[in-house]
Amino acid sequence: MLKYFIYCRKSSEEEERQILSIEAQLQELRDYARQNNLFVIKEYTESRTAKEPGRPIFNQMLSEMEKGNASGILAWNPDRLARNSIDGGRIIYLVDTEKIKALKFPTFWFDTTPQGKFMLSVAFGQAKYYTDNLRENILRGIRQKLRRGELPAKAPLGYFNEPRLRTIEPDKATFNKMKNILELFAKGNHTITGIQKEMFSLGLASKTGKPIHLSSIGSMLTNPFYYGYFKYRDELVKGSHKPMISKKLFDQIQASLDSNGKPRKVKKPQAFDFLNFALCGECGYSITAEKHVKKSGLRFVYYRCTHKSKVKICGQRGFLREEELAEQVINICQKVSIPDEWRDKFLGKVAEWEQEQNDSSGTFAQNIKEKMGGVDIKIERLSEGYLEGAFELPEYHEKKNQLVEQRKDLEEKLECFEQKGNHWLELLKNWILEANQAGNLAKTKNFPGMRNFLKTVGSNRILIGGKLKISFKKEYDLLRNLPEEARGETPEWTRSGSNRRPLACHASALAS
Ligand SMILES: [Zn+2]
Repeated sequence: MLKYFIYCRKSSEEEERQILSIEAQLQELRDYARQNNLFVIKEYTESRTAKEPGRPIFNQMLSEMEKGNASGILAWNPDRLARNSIDGGRIIYLVDTEKIKALKFPTFWFDTTPQGKFMLSVAFGQAKYYTDNLRENILRGIRQKLRRGELPAKAPLGYFNEPRLRTIEPDKATFNKMKNILELFAKGNHTITGIQKEMFSLGLASKTGKPIHLSSIGSMLTNPFYYGYFKYRDELVKGSHKPMISKKLFDQIQASLDSNGKPRKVKKPQAFDFLNFALCGECGYSITAEKHVKKSGLRFVYYRCTHKSKVKICGQRGFLREEELAEQVINICQKVSIPDEWRDKFLGKVAEWEQEQNDSSGTFAQNIKEKMGGVDIKIERLSEGYLEGAFELPEYHEKKNQLVEQRKDLEEKLECFEQKGNHWLELLKNWILEANQAGNLAKTKNFPGMRNFLKTVGSNRILIGGKLKISFKKEYDLLRNLPEEARGETPEWTRSGSNRRPLACHASALAS
């Protein structure tokens, strides 16, 4: 009596949902075996796709058949056995070599005659065609998306997948925040952990409300999507979405990442963090640092005037302990910093102004372009007039030169306008982020960071009578001189108006 194996298979993939479940297949096949007096010795079930060769249970069954432990298979349909040419070919080969003597399907007739084998290979071919066609359809969809510049994947943070148009659009809630984060990281003062904290404080969190995973942040920082391209299978494709940042900024981010990855120099315990930082307020010579070791083994670092002047005898004889200097530096950084709530509110305002600016600059540029068009028409008419003999050559040249100059002026005006564009807003934004960062540097006692910050925004750093004095740029001076009570609530910002507060002044100063 011929021994049969039952083989049932269903993959979890969507396109096969209409296929009977494994249990239902089993039930049907057991009934079929009973009705047809088939002697089933084992049942094999597998929940895997048959699109690729290499199903372990299917392979196990076939090797049992090669050993001669059974010579018939009972399955729901040929496509349960194979949807790829290798597995299909293997079955037909086993039929040819008579390892398989019978194949039974409730849904398909098969006999080991040449006609039956032909029908079987057609059935396998159909199953394979179905798979190929499906794959081809998916690929065609992807290729179409690529041609349209649409990323065939989930939108990165700052964007969302528009379900109706199936495009990727900026997400109002996160776009500007993510942009600020990228700009901040490009400055090179942040580690990935630092930027993770920044993102979290801006409300850029994971779905579970926790800080975004460091590895995800790493891939965000290297994602070309943000400057308008995306990678598909190692190929860089120009996207149709609105870029968040320029390629230049993206390159700066990559440079920051590179320097981030390099091993840092071993940080001495604060020692000489403020060397070459300030000058003596009396003689103007540099301040040096000295290390003293007490008998107890305690180490102290002091800062003092180098007394290099041979003309003027410097009266600054004091020593300033490094801890005291550090304390002063922290205080100064805190004074010129912008708290997180202010930053958020200010950045929101800047975004509004950016929008206004963009709206109005469109009209302005349009006006200039129209004027240029007018000049072009005049030049053309002038040439026609000359050709028709209305002017002599010198007169024509003179008139034409005037018009060409007019056009050049307009061109330059447009170019200059386009260059300026949002320049002041960029400055404002930089200032907000930089001043906010100063507060974080102070909070985390990042002394090298604070030193660099004060060196960039403050000039004339002097030490006199044990006190550090710094002249600040105007915008930082405004912050430093804010009365203590004004630090409580976030100031309102306006670009103009009679009731100008110091920060509003700064905004309008940059605007003018
Ligand atoms: Zn001195």
